[in-house]
Amino acid sequence: MEKKTILVIEDNDLNRKLMRALLRPEDFRILEAEDAQSGICMAREQRPDLILMDIQLPGMDGLTATSILKQDPLLKHIPVVAVTSYAMAGDSEKARSAGCDRYITKPIDIRSFKELIRNILGAGAALVAEV
Ligand code: MN
Repeated sequence: MEKKTILVIEDNDLNRKLMRALLRPEDFRILEAEDAQSGICMAREQRPDLILMDIQLPGMDGLTATSILKQDPLLKHIPVVAVTSYAMAGDSEKARSAGCDRYITKPIDIRSFKELIRNILGAGAALVAEV
């Protein structure tokens, strides 16, 4: 079975390292971008199955990047999970209106994070269950 591809758009090295550590045992293909522009380019080239989008990025922020992805007919079906380090009132509403499918806050709860990813990627869950 083909591996599911997850694109992580995150400027912080440690957070990308954490994402890799969490996702690698699940046998996903992981792509990484350090800013919104290169993340959007990578999404266009690679058509990932899921995008993990940091909200606070240098230059273009993650919400703007999400709305660009969601306006692209070839990319808008890709689920985007917004990841933010501060949970301020109205943030999840902003994420939703930008087109984010889900919204999670740092620090990441490892168990619910993995469950969320498996749920979104459906087939990935079956793959893990077989092991
Ligand atoms: Mn950031």
